[in-house]
Amino acid sequence: MEQQSQFDIIIAGAGASGLSLMWFLLHSVKYKDSRILLVDRTLEPVNDKTWCFWDKSDMPFKDLIYHTWHSLEVAAHDKIFTEELLQYKYHCMRSVDYTAKMLRFLESKPNVTLLEANVQEFNPGDEIAEIVTSKGKFTAPWIFQSALKPPGLSRSKMDVSLMQHFMGWEIEAENPLFETDKATLMDFDVPQQNGVTFLYVLPFSETTALIEYTLFSGKILTDEQYEKGIRDYLLEKYGLVDGSYKINRKEKGIIPMEDREYPAWYCNRVLNIGTVGGLTKPSTGYTFTRIHRHSEEIVQALEQGNRPPDSKASSYRFRVYDMMLLYLLENHSATSITIFRELFKRNRFDRILQFLEEKTHPGQEIKIFSSLPYIPFFKAIWKTKHRILTGA
Ligand SMILES: Cc1cc2nc3c(=O)[nH]c(=O)nc-3n(C[C@H](O)[C@H](O)[C@H](O)COP(=O)(O)OP(=O)(O)OC[C@H]3O[C@@H](n4cnc5c(N)ncnc54)[C@H](O)[C@@H]3O)c2cc1C
Repeated sequence: MEQQSQFDIIIAGAGASGLSLMWFLLHSVKYKDSRILLVDRTLEPVNDKTWCFWDKSDMPFKDLIYHTWHSLEVAAHDKIFTEELLQYKYHCMRSVDYTAKMLRFLESKPNVTLLEANVQEFNPGDEIAEIVTSKGKFTAPWIFQSALKPPGLSRSKMDVSLMQHFMGWEIEAENPLFETDKATLMDFDVPQQNGVTFLYVLPFSETTALIEYTLFSGKILTDEQYEKGIRDYLLEKYGLVDGSYKINRKEKGIIPMEDREYPAWYCNRVLNIGTVGGLTKPSTGYTFTRIHRHSEEIVQALEQGNRPPDSKASSYRFRVYDMMLLYLLENHSATSITIFRELFKRNRFDRILQFLEEKTHPGQEIKIFSSLPYIPFFKAIWKTKHRILTGA
């Protein structure tokens, strides 16, 4: 049978954003029966990412939540701050569960074509765009892509280019060690010689947890360095020596923390989504919730007969905050840790999450900033003024 080459919509990349957009399209009255092509180099669900996010309202995939924590902890300069969340809950979802469920759903749809192929490039057009893959060329009026870095990215203004890089071990101990309802967001009380470094601990049961050794810095470490960071922490914090626990799974990741703006469009009629669409919040790396919000916005615009919006992931105000924080993380790592400590010491955790989600109003933000050491922020404003004054 000859392969179909024209579609109503093409989605390139079947990760968090591609599958999210698929889900919203297939739940839309206008698009549920459209001919949609989904392309990825592999359509095999893999347990390689644990996505965490917080939410106080109903969310579409909540049956996929793997674990929820009601309390969070942050440690810095030998002080530990723990708080029970009142408005939000902190959840995690495993990429394997998300992908498997979405693909099962897609396989049941006769109007959806799934293609395992390498995406090579996109070609613009006035009415339709083209995707070039290792298994042929396909066209559609709209293509949404999360597979390739947009060509315009290298031309965006950028002063800070950091990475959030980490290795995590999902360990299983013989004896109960963890509080299952409390996640450690950041424990900075570890050696800091390679940049801002912290441990992130997500307990799934009293004996199992994901322990991530994480850095905000410009340089990736060797596997041995991340592993040593985890081992030392397990020993120091939980008294676990090598061999006294099992490592059930390893996870590694690099998330961009950059102050440049990502171009909305790859080329005419090809919209960037997900990480390559600039959906990552530069100062924290959180992307997952923003991805679903973006998918909803895209589908709403299409349903109304409009072009998908090239809306910015963050407003000007929040871009300026992110820029200041990135400047401090890159240039004043010790001060950054003091800022995190003061932030969590002097503000309710719910309010901090609301701020990180960019849902606070200016009055609440002034209160948050007035709880922090202000001289570093004046310095950051001075150093980033060329960006602040030109629209960030
Ligand atoms: C290990 C890890 C943990 C993370 N944890 C969190 C978290 O806790 N919370 C949070 O908010 N964010 C987190 N993030 C950041 C972000 O949410 C994820 O990276 C998320 O997966 C981004 O979605 P995406 O669709 O942009 O990219 P992806 O999910 O990576 O999807 C891109 C897809 O494109 C495919 N692809 C790429 N190139 C090609 C090509 N040339 N041809 C064909 N297919 C191609 C890939 O196979 C992949 O399936 C994490 C990131 C990583 C790496």
